[in-house]
Amino acid sequence: MAIRKVARMGHPILRKRAVPIESNDILRMPVQNLISDLFDSMKEYGGIGLAAPQVHESLQIAVIEFTTDNDRYPNMGAQGPLVLINPTIEVLDPILQEFWEGCLSVPELRGKVARPRKIRVSYLSEKAQARTIEPEGFLATVFQHELDHLWGNLFVDKLVDSKSLTFMDEFRRFHLSKGAQSIDEEPIE
Ligand code: ZN
Repeated sequence: MAIRKVARMGHPILRKRAVPIESNDILRMPVQNLISDLFDSMKEYGGIGLAAPQVHESLQIAVIEFTTDNDRYPNMGAQGPLVLINPTIEVLDPILQEFWEGCLSVPELRGKVARPRKIRVSYLSEKAQARTIEPEGFLATVFQHELDHLWGNLFVDKLVDSKSLTFMDEFRRFHLSKGAQSIDEEPIE
């Protein structure tokens, strides 16, 4: 159990394709400890998701968890603690939806990103069991943001328009106040 330091944009580990984990290794302590540290770190920093490369581990693991009592995500549903290992994505509905995104590895910035509105994710659980999940809407964007970290991508690579890139203060003043919906690993305070 430990809170890990988060790698920021510019650190090469964020741009590497993370390594898949052998299913025999999933139940072993190093991976189980990393999973526990990912949840501890995500909660400490107030995020809704965190991927292993963000804590300097180039391995294909991401965690997601958020609740509906989070003021920033009213009517967005909830997602219990979920561990995604060696995930693959298939697009079920290619229609793009836009959300503002924020990232613990890109602090103080928000930008608009368009992503497919429904996907299927196949992955191994923390118990090394094969699973699939079909997130849509807001949740589909959260999944795609987190899984992009495993493939060396950041949300700034996928901006609808680079002119949407906005510092947090200006986002609060000019966009959030007009009801902008954002997904943020990094909390808006
Ligand atoms: Zn991120």
